[in-house]
Amino acid sequence: MRPVFFSDLDDTVFQTARKMDAPPPPERLAAEALNGSHSYMTAGQDMMIKWLLASTRFIPVTARSSEALARCKLPFADYQICTNGGVILTPEGMPDADWHARMKHEADAVASGLENLMSFMARQTPAGRFRYWIVEDFGVGFYFCVKSNEDARRLDDIDAELCEVARAALVRHRNDNNLSFTPAGISKRGAVQYLAEKLGLDGSSVPVFGMGDSLTDLPFMAACDMLVIPKKSQIAQTKLYPEDG
Ligand SMILES: [Mg+2]
Repeated sequence: MRPVFFSDLDDTVFQTARKMDAPPPPERLAAEALNGSHSYMTAGQDMMIKWLLASTRFIPVTARSSEALARCKLPFADYQICTNGGVILTPEGMPDADWHARMKHEADAVASGLENLMSFMARQTPAGRFRYWIVEDFGVGFYFCVKSNEDARRLDDIDAELCEVARAALVRHRNDNNLSFTPAGISKRGAVQYLAEKLGLDGSSVPVFGMGDSLTDLPFMAACDMLVIPKKSQIAQTKLYPEDG
């Protein structure tokens, strides 16, 4: 049995070129983006992912839809958790049927809440300032996502009002130029716990790692035995301990 490694992808295993200190070489391309803003690994990330893919059961845990996950160049071969936990792909690349039925039920129950966020954006914000959509996968609308077309701080202008529209049925995630609202019954943590049980990890001696960069990754990471955090990340930048001493 190999250790199991549940890991976020964006800003953990790779990031867009603009966030990197030096222009990355083309051989470290990690994920293609439809808008041309592709993601790359640093030399260290490249070494890390080769080591992890060779020595662990590496299971991505990402907000990407299965379609966006398929644009990753990394050779993932095990289960994959995508769409913020809404979809679990089997090693054959098919959605886990039991999980899909449960998550479709959760998403359908708050579909009108997601639509309310869409209509707020259409009615209350200037055209072109933001781009926003409902992330769909396998025919189900799973979560609402908005990005600024200008500065990421523009999201401050709509954050509180969107929270009011969303109410308690949707959970807010925010990091950099990403603001999203996900049905409360859908989470990376829920998907990790379901998969851990399915893989027989509960009560086993197999070490389970959880790695991620965002504060909203912490709940799924805390469901694992060990938590791994990138040095440059939203979590690490949050004051968790005194810097001196
Ligand atoms: Mg991330």
